Amino acid sequence: MRIGTTHARVQRIWSVELRPEAGGPVLVCPHCPRGPHPLAAGSARSAALAHLAQHARRDVLAPHLRTCQCFERGCRWHPRHRGCSGAVRLLLMRAQGGRLWRLADACAACAAATAQAAVVPDALLPATPPLEASRRPRTRSTARPPGADERVRVKEMLTYLAAALPRFSSPTARLLALQCALRADRQGRVELREGFLRGMRLASHAAPWHELEHAGWLRCTRRRRGRTEAQLLDAAALAQAPSREERARAAHWALHPAPLTAPRQAPPSVQLAALVLAVHTGTGRGSADTDALTRLCATTPPSLEDLLDQLTRTRTLASWRRDLEAGETCWQPPEQA
Ligand SMILES: [Zn+2]
Ligand SMILES: [Zn+2]
Ligand SMILES: [Zn+2]
Repeated sequence: MRIGTTHARVQRIWSVELRPEAGGPVLVCPHCPRGPHPLAAGSARSAALAHLAQHARRDVLAPHLRTCQCFERGCRWHPRHRGCSGAVRLLLMRAQGGRLWRLADACAACAAATAQAAVVPDALLPATPPLEASRRPRTRSTARPPGADERVRVKEMLTYLAAALPRFSSPTARLLALQCALRADRQGRVELREGFLRGMRLASHAAPWHELEHAGWLRCTRRRRGRTEAQLLDAAALAQAPSREERARAAHWALHPAPLTAPRQAPPSVQLAALVLAVHTGTGRGSADTDALTRLCATTPPSLEDLLDQLTRTRTLASWRRDLEAGETCWQPPEQA
């Protein structure tokens, strides 16, 4: 039986344009009959995703009918192609310097090859989880190794932030955004205490907060001795499905991402790299698409090599190598004592 003969081919691609106008930026959506929506200046990026997610939620399609929309358009969104493979997920893409945002179904291989793009975790589209998933008991499965759920949660959020934050946002800003997103309450409010910030070696640094404010991702509501309070402006980060307790566990794991924990005094770029590698590490080894790693580490290809060397020198990694043919980077965590 051929499924294609009984179902019309479904387009799973939506895009919006953020257009500057005299009265402030507006969101133009070709899928919506009513005209441009006005936008608050700082939150344009997250408003675009929130709007696209609404369309994706409304046009639900059974998973087995979803196909790689990138492939169907001739794979024009990314440079090289090794063929479609992997699960089909929603991919958020940023084009034309952030003026155009596109959400589409894409396979894992196309998603990894696309610059300025990120897989939107299912957790960020809370209206669409399959029924079984939402009814699943909250207790942790005993079959999964400790830290497995946390690792998935952190991986999804790091991937999301790589697209949601400006391309050249610093490693420090990404680490801070990760903690804020995972620790925020349902209204997007987050409070980080001085001891915690000191632990992250951020206590006296206002720069990453300013960076996230400038990106329109959050707004500091209170800064005083002992704590910083902020309000997240990213609409997608507010609508997270996992419970606050589950997210808090993931945030905690991200501070010591076993089995790869960089030395405490290592710079933020090394800390972020160790975390990115840790979420891609299985039992005894890890690997990931090199381009995707470079983007997640907020770095450039030559600097990624340098970061990997630094991790090896500090024995956070036992070794690493490039698989040029597969376009992958592979590594081994240190031997467990
Ligand atoms: Zn629309
Ligand atoms: Zn493609
Ligand atoms: Zn594909």
